[in-house]
Amino acid sequence: MLTKAKGHLQTHFGYDEFRKGQEDMIQKVMEGKDTLGIMPTGGGKSVCYQIPALLLRGVTVVISPLISLMKDQVDALDKAGIPSTYINSALSSDEMQDRLAGIYNGEYKLVYIAPERLETPSFLRLLEGIHISLVAIDEAHCISHWGHDFRPSYLHIKKLISSIQPKPTVLALTATATPQVRNDICDLLHIDEQNTVMTGFERENLHFQVVKGQDRDRFLLDYIGKNKGQAGIIYAATRKEVDRLHHFLEAKGLSAGKYHAGMSEKERNDHQERFLYDDITLMVATNAFGMGINKSNVRFVIHYHIPRNMEAYYQEAGRAGRDGEESACILMFAPQDTQIQSFLIEQSDMEEVRKENEYSKLRKMVAYGHTESCLQQFILHYFGEENPPECGKCGNCTDDREQVDATVETQMVLSCIRRMNERFGKTMITKVLTGSSDKKIKSFGFDQLSTHGIMKDKTQKDVSEFIDFLTAEGYLRPTDGAYPILMLTEKAGNVLRGKEPVLRKERVRISQIVEDNDLF
Ligand code: ADP
Repeated sequence: MLTKAKGHLQTHFGYDEFRKGQEDMIQKVMEGKDTLGIMPTGGGKSVCYQIPALLLRGVTVVISPLISLMKDQVDALDKAGIPSTYINSALSSDEMQDRLAGIYNGEYKLVYIAPERLETPSFLRLLEGIHISLVAIDEAHCISHWGHDFRPSYLHIKKLISSIQPKPTVLALTATATPQVRNDICDLLHIDEQNTVMTGFERENLHFQVVKGQDRDRFLLDYIGKNKGQAGIIYAATRKEVDRLHHFLEAKGLSAGKYHAGMSEKERNDHQERFLYDDITLMVATNAFGMGINKSNVRFVIHYHIPRNMEAYYQEAGRAGRDGEESACILMFAPQDTQIQSFLIEQSDMEEVRKENEYSKLRKMVAYGHTESCLQQFILHYFGEENPPECGKCGNCTDDREQVDATVETQMVLSCIRRMNERFGKTMITKVLTGSSDKKIKSFGFDQLSTHGIMKDKTQKDVSEFIDFLTAEGYLRPTDGAYPILMLTEKAGNVLRGKEPVLRKERVRISQIVEDNDLF
């Protein structure tokens, strides 16, 4: 069977070897096992259902939320000599009838449908009349409330699967699955967790970097200046900021495209096409840009503001270097930007429990900005990989500042938190450590603690940042919600008992960075 699969890989797709995970996934599908496949963006998920579609009898139904991508996929399959079609709301009713007739007559091996179709009972009945051997679900995390892109229409997939006789094999695919999302997908689609195929999330050609304490516009200009002619995406959090940055770059003589949901469709398509065809190399955009775009030579992705969670970050940053060439993913981190994202969560109409979950995810993203450990390791760890190695090339791995011993300072913070009974958040803890004696502090009697004012030689900002660092490095665990309480972890216990030292990179004064910046 696998020899045949490889034959198809060569004749239809022109590749000699399977990539990591592809063979395993195809084997499972061919054995009729319902499977969850997790691979990073660009890992090559499509062939994992396209090749089985060729080997199996009847039709493979592919559920995909990206209408724009459907057409591209079907066009590409046409070129590869694989009969396929798609059905979505963009078709006229004549086209729809033609295609449905084609499906009945067995003219296609693959049929792509948008999940919204599944909400129409008459459409489900139509599918009952054809032989469907495989249902492939792209972007399967959309089925989970805990994912970063929940779509209610995905919940109808279950109905589709149970209405088809005999039962088809199910292949759920995603690039972003935390353990929580993974469980949800398996539960909702009745996939045995043992049938999960997960390839490493590592993208070897990506260099991660966090930039902080710098004038962002200057950094941007400098970076673009040093990387002239290379394609890059700059993500900003709001339409207004996209407009401003776009204007700023153009005013500096750099031609750039822009993309956000406030522009007309024509305008957006126009800018997008120009970027895709290398007519312009820079694109300034909100997160509305990028879904379903397959531009392989993007050399850098810069986030001007922090995104709402690690899933979104890795997906957006991962648009760099799809061709395997060395590429950079830079996050410009200013802790105050977190407020934009908190505001968006607060304003959303999510249920309270989901909001809390979103806050927790945002906090992980903030921790990414604060960590001094390997950035790639941090990401891989977030996505559930155990003991990922250090990459040796990210901004933190290559940071050659001296490490200084911060054990005593850490012990001060930790013992203060313990004395406050682990019931308060960062602001209160900072106040006690720096010796504030406001009404609230007095009412709790914290001005009487031995740790009150123990760090009074430092500014509140420095102490607050130090607490962020300790949280990012796993000494403190924040509770859920908008105003988390900080609690001690096991690792913190080790430091308090003097069993583990804490090392931190030597601080560089902001004024020094600004002076350096003045050089360009
Ligand atoms: P994903 O859906 O995981 O983001 P795609 O299925 O779009 O990724 O594949 C990404 C790219 O990798 C495509 O250009 C595809 O043709 C290519 N690709 C897939 N499988 C292989 C392979 N075995 N060898 C080389 N390239 C491959």
